[in-house]
Amino acid sequence: MSPGLWAPSAWVDGRWQDGVLLEVGADGRWTRVAAGLRCPSDAVRLEGPALPGLVDAHSHAFQRAFAGLSERRDDGRDDFWSWRDRMYQVAAQVGVDDVRAIASHLFHELIEGGYTQVCEFHYLQHQPDGRAHGDPLAMAWALHDAARASGIGLTLLPVLYERAGFTRPTLRPEQARFRLGADEVWEAVARLRSVAHARFDAGLAIHSLRGASPRSIRRLVQRAQSWSGAIHIHVAEQTGEVDDCLAATGCRPIEWLLREGVLDARWQLVHATHATPQEIDSVASSGAGVVICPGTEADLGDGLTDLAAWLDAGVRPSDEVKRGLRRFVPEYTAGPAD
Ligand SMILES: [Zn+2]
Repeated sequence: MSPGLWAPSAWVDGRWQDGVLLEVGADGRWTRVAAGLRCPSDAVRLEGPALPGLVDAHSHAFQRAFAGLSERRDDGRDDFWSWRDRMYQVAAQVGVDDVRAIASHLFHELIEGGYTQVCEFHYLQHQPDGRAHGDPLAMAWALHDAARASGIGLTLLPVLYERAGFTRPTLRPEQARFRLGADEVWEAVARLRSVAHARFDAGLAIHSLRGASPRSIRRLVQRAQSWSGAIHIHVAEQTGEVDDCLAATGCRPIEWLLREGVLDARWQLVHATHATPQEIDSVASSGAGVVICPGTEADLGDGLTDLAAWLDAGVRPSDEVKRGLRRFVPEYTAGPAD
């Protein structure tokens, strides 16, 4: 047991409280948070007000390698999709040691910025030509190692990703290393969870409705019937994605998830930029959470989410931010997303 920290004021249970003693166990979790106390003689006295650690609820760590290099318009037609092509050029060159180094850099930056937990939406799985590494989870272990070295808590989310679009049943060659089927995701999470500790856990992720077939999504959902962990999915980030989903299924993306009846409190809808009032109300009723990423959404011209509507609907904080302060967790702005 550490001697504890004492703050003249701290944000506890949704309000500022004075004279707060914070004690932490060997596993890094709080063992005692008590207000209205004088500073014990053996406690470390903090200088100013104390805030709970923030959660980066949506990260693709390897993208830190080119942050700042893509924020330019090469021609009048530059958009999300042209940015994505540049991102793929980076993804094609990143190996296991590179991921470990880039993620170590990013995770240290997050810690310096006040973040104590990160959710890594992990799809950079295989070698650039699509062949699996000797250990298929080599990239995942590199992320695990980087987080452990930095001290940040990591929720690693292997991603179901198997097609290039609603009408393209396979991945493009430059996406070959992203491929992971429903059963492979399930098995990866089982392996990762076998080494879970206080600062490491794994959850499920689906790249997007355009990136995974209904059949595979249903397969993963069916295998996860009794799963209690988080399920993340990119959804309705781009108007083009919404249009393609409508054309292919007759539904908007969030509407499709609602129609499937899969959403519940385990689900985190990442971006959810283009949502109708009816979709927002239905998501709130389902208990699912929303991960708004204003840095990315501004960076890539996704559009503005109707934040007021989500708040008015009472969408709950994500599982990963229960110990944090914020209802919506802005993504680390230096790490744009796809
Ligand atoms: Zn993303």
